[in-house]
Amino acid sequence: MDINEKVAYIKGLTDGLKLNEKDDTVMVLKAVIDLLEDITDEITDLGELYDELSEQVDEIDQDLSIVEDDLYDSEEDDDFDDDFDEDSEYYEVVCPTCGDEICVSEDILIEGSIDCPNCGEELAFDFSSLTADEINGDNEE
Ligand SMILES: [Zn+2]
Repeated sequence: MDINEKVAYIKGLTDGLKLNEKDDTVMVLKAVIDLLEDITDEITDLGELYDELSEQVDEIDQDLSIVEDDLYDSEEDDDFDDDFDEDSEYYEVVCPTCGDEICVSEDILIEGSIDCPNCGEELAFDFSSLTADEINGDNEE
């Protein structure tokens, strides 16, 4: 028996007893039973609302985990890109000795030279084609 059924049972009992409605004690008893009915109605409504909210929170939680998965995926993509493309600049340099095209990062350019991975010739970089911003960038240490 849940609380609604208990209150209905008590109400049924008092109705069946044919109590004297004008008796002070009976009036108080009826008022208390009325109050109990109101309270159980409110609790029942709250319980339904709670169930609805729980379902919505579950849905939000599921949606959020999808968003989190997407977010972490794209963060991993960003990390990947950092190593190659996006934030740090890359330049193609042609080795004057063997003609090989070498992809060098801004960091290596700022160091000023790299050994050609094809022929081993040391390549020194000319900064004249770069703007000061490109050279300085975020790499001041
Ligand atoms: Zn070379």
